[in-house]
Amino acid sequence: MPSQVVASRIRGFISLNAHPAGCAANVDGEIAVATAGAPQAGLADALVIGASTGYGLSSLASALFGYGARGTAVCLERPPQGDKTASAGWYNLAALQRRAQAGGRGLAVVNGDAFSREVKQQTLAHLKNIGARLDLVVYSLAAPKRTDPSTGTSYSSVLKPIGAPFRSKTVNLGNEQVTAVEIAPASDAEIEATRKVMGGEDFADWMHALDQAGLLARGCRAVAYSYVGPALTFPIYRSGTIGKAKEDLEAKTRQLSDWMAERVGGSAYVAVMKGLVTQASAAIPVVPLYISLLYKVMKEAGTHEATAQQIARLFRDHLAPGVRPTVDDEGRIRLDDRELAPSVQAEVSARWDQITTGNLAALSDYASFRTDFRRLFGFEVPGVDYAAPVETDVPLTLVP
Ligand code: NAD
Repeated sequence: MPSQVVASRIRGFISLNAHPAGCAANVDGEIAVATAGAPQAGLADALVIGASTGYGLSSLASALFGYGARGTAVCLERPPQGDKTASAGWYNLAALQRRAQAGGRGLAVVNGDAFSREVKQQTLAHLKNIGARLDLVVYSLAAPKRTDPSTGTSYSSVLKPIGAPFRSKTVNLGNEQVTAVEIAPASDAEIEATRKVMGGEDFADWMHALDQAGLLARGCRAVAYSYVGPALTFPIYRSGTIGKAKEDLEAKTRQLSDWMAERVGGSAYVAVMKGLVTQASAAIPVVPLYISLLYKVMKEAGTHEATAQQIARLFRDHLAPGVRPTVDDEGRIRLDDRELAPSVQAEVSARWDQITTGNLAALSDYASFRTDFRRLFGFEVPGVDYAAPVETDVPLTLVP
């Protein structure tokens, strides 16, 4: 069993390691938010696909600790190997599983490629085995590639504008310089590949497979996450390749909702969430600089929420048993209302025009972006002794 001092090894928006005690402390924070003011009952079984980090992890914590669900989590995480630490998601789910067990709650974890037939079959077999009747399914995958199981073709998603190059500002997470960036437009093949990875096909495949296996409870609700964002990120996000994929996810979710109503008296929703620091969002050019400004302005306005708070509000106001979700004209639940408040966006835009390396610290909350990013991997978490050796070979019980 290796016990070692773990120092952060971050390269740009990639972290090469993770700190188990820091991840466990993060999970305790997630549980505290999920539990506060929640009934701790109401859900029977919840399946969260993409449950180990970001919005999926917060969703799993809310379902289990806020609403008493028995949980099944699907993720793709790296286990510890010799002296190498596991990935953060592994440590997160290990900590959540320990806490769930201590509280008498069940949390099963399937670690593998959620796009594959094998992982779907493995998950269905487990759910059948425990006699699950799912009243909540959360789809929260953020993945760079997918192999379509029906054709065997592999697709890689890209983060590019469509039609014309996008020139903007970005912050280089390696040297913390604000620089000009120009991103060339995507080809038609790249637009389609991004849709295949991040669009709605796989969400629909999961729901159909769960239904065929008789695992959806009457009134089951399914939710997937999307993003819209402000005009200044439209070329790289909403009007770009990822935005096209999100349009596909939203359209397929509307179809799924009609189908679920017919099949089980249930419904499917897309929830449009706030832009936040996660492994997925840090990789999008321009977005980290926008998020740094957004944090500063929303904190000044007293409306800032982190991932756990966004999800707690989603559950409380929209997904809790007996609560009817409020939706926009396109049937989407909106948790980005505070981000897109005109006063917030006017201030972000004014600062965006002025921001440079020299005034980055004064005009934006880049310091929080940096800290939040490190915390995703368990570093810079208050109360953790980083000088002390820590056991890195942390067990996570997986569905066989
Ligand atoms: P994240 O990177 O924190 O989480 C991604 C999850 O997907 C992890 O649990 C990971 O293990 C899992 N995963 C990735 N590939 C997998 C695979 N092949 N098989 C199984 N699991 C796999 O991402 P996030 O930012 O929380 O994003 C989740 C969803 O929320 C995405 O749809 C994203 O577009 C959406 N969203 C994010 C933001 C944001 O600002 N971060 C805002 C709005 C919506």
